[in-house]
Amino acid sequence: TFKAMRVDQAEGGQTVALVDFDEAELMEGDVTVRVSHSTVNYKDGLALTGKAPVVRRWPMIPGIDFAGVVERSSHPGWTAGDKVVLNGWGLGETHLGGYAEKARVKGDWLVRLPEGMGPAEAMAIGTAGFTAMLSVMALERHGLTPDRGQAIVTGAAGGVGSVAVALLAKLGWQVVAATGRPAEADYLKELGASEVIDRAELAVRPRPLAKERWAAGVDSVGSAPLANLLSMIRYGGAVAACGLAAGMDLPASVAPFILRSVSLLGIDSVMCPPPRRREAWARLAADLDRAKLKAMTRTVALAEVEAVGRAILQGQVRGRVVVEIG
Ligand code: NAP
Repeated sequence: TFKAMRVDQAEGGQTVALVDFDEAELMEGDVTVRVSHSTVNYKDGLALTGKAPVVRRWPMIPGIDFAGVVERSSHPGWTAGDKVVLNGWGLGETHLGGYAEKARVKGDWLVRLPEGMGPAEAMAIGTAGFTAMLSVMALERHGLTPDRGQAIVTGAAGGVGSVAVALLAKLGWQVVAATGRPAEADYLKELGASEVIDRAELAVRPRPLAKERWAAGVDSVGSAPLANLLSMIRYGGAVAACGLAAGMDLPASVAPFILRSVSLLGIDSVMCPPPRRREAWARLAADLDRAKLKAMTRTVALAEVEAVGRAILQGQVRGRVVVEIG
């Protein structure tokens, strides 16, 4: 057996408990990994609390990402001792996840830990940081460069937001950070934001078009803030939309698209194809300032994830949270 956080269905809800999990109960897979670190992402908060139907299999070990070392493999790409990272592919949703000392997964889902990056650093990045990188890469593919104007990041003090601010600043962008936590203004400036605005400015009822302000955006909140962002993006600019912390709706109009050639770029990390995953992890190894990563991260024990999961849904978690397991 090994230690695992286990979620079970119960009458009128679900139970969460740290248990001894039987290795024979692990799901099918050609690689067994000794997990050393996981993280708490927004989606983990949803899974741990049952607030949204993230968990599709019972019992479940939550945890949508992990880093660790290959223990056993019948997959041609992996041998015992390989250092690996995994995010997405239904981990912690349909497949037993990262909040455990062991995981058995498809070898095709794994990415080699980049040279010079430790497992704790990889999980300080985690799904949230990976998604921030995918967002920046999408803006780049769209041809956007820092000389086009400023970049805006919403949910800036959160996980995706903090990594996006640090990445964009490192890549030469002037970054505007939108946050509901004015007390985190200094934190955001340390990460590289040149300006911090109150997210209330973006919570107003959206108009089809507003004054052009930013060339690019990374949005982790959706709903009215995303609609307002679109109405304020400069001609030919784009927003990478990756989250729904403010809501799943989008009360926008087509005006920015058809009058300003603005683009809305969709970002999904779960089913992201392997070549782009490898590219994103390589870019994170190269373009994310490790001192800033450290400054945005705190570490908790496996037993604490449920409490952190509740806090993250309330917008009370700053930056990233690593879960130390092995
Ligand atoms: P997080 O750490 O909780 O960050 C979310 C941030 O959004 C909060 O810190 C807060 O930032 C802001 N926020 C919260 N409630 C809000 C509200 N009602 N109105 C406006 N802003 C609000 O979560 P995360 O792990 O970074 O994830 C962020 C979002 O991205 C989540 O919706 C998550 O599901 C999504 N996501 C998607 C993918 C994908 O594959 N597409 C991958 C990872 C994450 P401030 O306090 O600074 O305002």
